[in-house]
Formats: sequence, structure tokens, C-alpha cells
Amino acid sequence: MLTGRCLCGACSYEIAGEPIIVAHCHCLDCQRLSGAGHTTGAMFAEDGIRLHGEPASFSLVSEAGNTVTRLFCATCGSPLFGRNSGMPGVITVMLGTLDEPAPLTPQVAIFTRSRRAWDPIDPTVVSFEAQPSWTPADPV
Ligand SMILES: [Zn+2]
Ligand SMILES: [Zn+2]
Repeated sequence: MLTGRCLCGACSYEIAGEPIIVAHCHCLDCQRLSGAGHTTGAMFAEDGIRLHGEPASFSLVSEAGNTVTRLFCATCGSPLFGRNSGMPGVITVMLGTLDEPAPLTPQVAIFTRSRRAWDPIDPTVVSFEAQPSWTPADPV
């Protein structure tokens, strides 16, 4: 069981189950979302997550035409989760909000074509120029 929370503690969560994949995303939306060079997120089956608190949300349409919804704490602004209409039933958890992220290891870096020169790609992962065509049933 993994647990996590936002910076102020108004939102917290528990996750059961194994991650589908753990990824660094260097896309421009993730740069704005994080205020940094990339986000690092772990995808889980959404039914394994128990949420406490009421995160605010913001949705936009991705390059691929999917609706991407970002959930964040309305009080402190911590980005907590992401959903993508192209992957129903799956939620991405922002790794830095976990209380103990040590057991999770990033496997891939995606959208590396948007990477900034000051944000080197993790040399331990498989990298993709854009979004690879994986599915939750068949990750990289
Ligand atoms: Zn908060
Ligand atoms: Zn991204």
C-alpha cells in the first residue's frame, strides 16, 4: 500500500496494486504543469486509489485529441493526478507526492523531443520522442 499527499495535506490518498508504468514526461504541458523540466508519474488502475479531500481539476485536449484532466490541490496547488480519456480506468499519480516513492522506478521517458537542454534524460530509462503506442494491458 502506497500513500501520498499534497504539500498542505488537504488532499491525501492511498493506492493498492502495482503501477502499470512509471514515466518521465518531457511534454510542454508537463513543463507548465510542474514548473520544471518534466513530470514523473506512475499509472495505476483507478479503482485501486482511495482519495481523501477534494482536488480541483483542469482539463484540456491533448495533441492526440484526448481529454487530459489534471487534478491538483486547490489550497496549495500541488499537482496530484492526471487522467486521459484515451486510457479510461487509469490514473497517473505524480511521483513526488508519494510519502515513500522509493519502491517505484521510472522505466521510460516520453516526449523527449520537447526536452530542455538543462533537463537531461534519465540514462536508465527507454526514451521516446513522443507518446509511444502502449496500452495499459501491454506497457513497454
Ligand atoms: Zn494541498
Ligand atoms: Zn506530459
